[in-house]
Amino acid sequence: MAEEHTPLSVAQTQLKLAAKKLKLDSGIYKMLSKPKRSILVSIDVRLDNGAIGVFNGVRVQHWDVRGPFKGGIRYYPSITLDEVTALSMLMTWKCAVADIPFGGAKGGVCVDTKKMSKTELERVTRRYVSLIVDYLGPHRDIPAPDMYTDAQTMAWIMDTYSQLKGYSVPESVTGKPVEIGGSEGRTEATGRGVIHCVKQAAANNSVKLKNAAVAIQGFGNVGYHAAVAAQEIGCKVVAVSDSTGGIYCADGLNPADVLVHKEKNKSVQNYKDCKNITNEELLELPCDVLIPAAMGNQITCNNADRIKAKMVAEAANGPTTTEADKALYEKGICLIPDILANSGGVTVSYFEWVQNLTREQWPLEKVNRKLETKMTKAFNDVVAISEKEESDLRTGALMLGVGRVANAIKVLGLWP
Ligand code: NAD
Repeated sequence: MAEEHTPLSVAQTQLKLAAKKLKLDSGIYKMLSKPKRSILVSIDVRLDNGAIGVFNGVRVQHWDVRGPFKGGIRYYPSITLDEVTALSMLMTWKCAVADIPFGGAKGGVCVDTKKMSKTELERVTRRYVSLIVDYLGPHRDIPAPDMYTDAQTMAWIMDTYSQLKGYSVPESVTGKPVEIGGSEGRTEATGRGVIHCVKQAAANNSVKLKNAAVAIQGFGNVGYHAAVAAQEIGCKVVAVSDSTGGIYCADGLNPADVLVHKEKNKSVQNYKDCKNITNEELLELPCDVLIPAAMGNQITCNNADRIKAKMVAEAANGPTTTEADKALYEKGICLIPDILANSGGVTVSYFEWVQNLTREQWPLEKVNRKLETKMTKAFNDVVAISEKEESDLRTGALMLGVGRVANAIKVLGLWP
């Protein structure tokens, strides 16, 4: 089959589709198809053995007409500029769909965190921030965690930024530990938000969630918290996986216990009473809800016809290619697109930024209540457009996100 897509070609195709549907001005379409700024840096650090390590880093700032750039930083050995550009575009649409006052950005460093010590990672992080610091800031660009970065990484970013400015700037980064201004509920927010969407979609599609079988690819921050939230609402988590492979148990497994096993054994595999499966097999399991929560490009034209889930909730960014999207839609599978499904993370990041700017700390209940309200509104806004257009939810979400950004460009005008 004729499909070999990169994340950027998928993102560009999605923008084109939305632009066509919205009858977007061709100039604005051209503006949105490129990022405003891409910064490439070389990160030189002293390794623990005394040698010098040199790592490539990137920060792509897509569009900021609705507010400062916002987006995660991922650490992964094979990151490319194209991939980060695609992810920065998704962030722009996502913030607009969630209706929060941010634009889109993404960053990354080509580094294998599994082969680095904590002190080496700290030096990489601080050096990376020092190289892009002029383009960061609470009203310019606010980083957050993504794959293989976490609250600790965000603490180093905040400290480096603050040291270079000469005063403490907690609002310079989100997803940091609560002790230094992080928000209650931020760590769980993306996974919880995915399940809020699943609840809404299940109600719309008459899917019963009590004992519904849920399979989750990726058992990191997002995958784990989605598993916990799914279990909380009565679903049965039948399969999870990580980079080493997956496990399956038709009777359901306990995510908290699997996490203990993973921390001890560095893998979810070989967990009691479960069958070891591959990541590919996980995607094709008979289940009610499939949640890809790891990498991009996982559901493609090569496996779309074997996906048996009734619903796919894209916790990961860009897990489904354009042709696979079409194939799932034709099979009647309800797909909740990434820019809606995983927007809970950036939504609570926005809450964190607001708390930092006002020097407040909200209780968890308030954060969770506001998250559910925001996600429900975003979900209903997307459904309303999809119903009007008689389209899938992806098209509805893209039209909503791209349309809001395009309108902001129109009213702001071009300077000079
Ligand atoms: P993480 O680093 O905490 O976890 C990543 C998980 O993916 C790990 O379990 C890892 O073992 C697994 N993995 C890595 N390579 C894999 C492979 N080849 N096959 C299967 N599994 C593999 O990252 P995270 O923060 O949970 O992010 C996961 C996804 O969610 C990413 O696509 C990210 O962009 C997206 N996302 C994250 C957030 C957030 O708040 N962290 C927000 C929105 C979207």
